[in-house]
Amino acid sequence: MIGVTEQLRSTRERIRRAIRSAGRADDSVRLLAVGKRQPVGKIREAAAAGQRDFGENIVTEALEKQAALADADLVWHFIGTLQSNKTRDVAAAFDWVHTVDRLKLVRRLSGQRPPDAPPLNVCIQINIDAEATKSGATPASARELAQAVADAPRLALRGLMCLPRPQPTVAEQRVPFRRLRELFDELNGAGFGLDTLSMGMSGDLEAAVAEGSTLVRVGTAIFGPRET
Ligand SMILES: *Cc1c(COP(=O)(O)O)cnc(C)c1O
Repeated sequence: MIGVTEQLRSTRERIRRAIRSAGRADDSVRLLAVGKRQPVGKIREAAAAGQRDFGENIVTEALEKQAALADADLVWHFIGTLQSNKTRDVAAAFDWVHTVDRLKLVRRLSGQRPPDAPPLNVCIQINIDAEATKSGATPASARELAQAVADAPRLALRGLMCLPRPQPTVAEQRVPFRRLRELFDELNGAGFGLDTLSMGMSGDLEAAVAEGSTLVRVGTAIFGPRET
């Protein structure tokens, strides 16, 4: 069986090739290793291989892993659907949140971020395919949310995130990523200074990098199938 160290290496190689073929700078895409529903041992192996950024989508599970890995110097990203009764834990235990999609979360996260911690890094999640069942703000509300995050004293506005519907071809995968990048450019044209476009996963990272992703969130390609 191929281990985490080897799969992490081949994932980095995939990203490097995608960056090259897009003609972008070598260090322009950050790799977030998504360890949700994976054992702590695998996350520790990735950390030992030099991986620093880790993503989780369930707060209770993440807190247990953070406690078990407290000796490692890791950066934790919350990428799950965020319920307002979980904002206090997220504000206290994470470095980044990628899934802010309404004003209520902005107020709570800023109010609950501990005063001794640096500002919490925030990406606004956009429901780019306008799917009825998916969380995420509408593109039309992105500007108002971005302004609220920028104005929140304990938050740092970093960018946009999306989780598009799976598509069979790279050409089709690129369409929603392109729309998110256009929204990103539009907000930056309005002066928001965003530096993070969080898009692309195991199955579509090449399409995302081709469309300007600066952070890919990769789970199964690094850690293998998840525990159910
Ligand atoms: C699970 C998950 C990922 C990783 O998905 P893979 O297909 O395993 O790479 C990325 N982003 C979010 C928001 C997720 O929930």
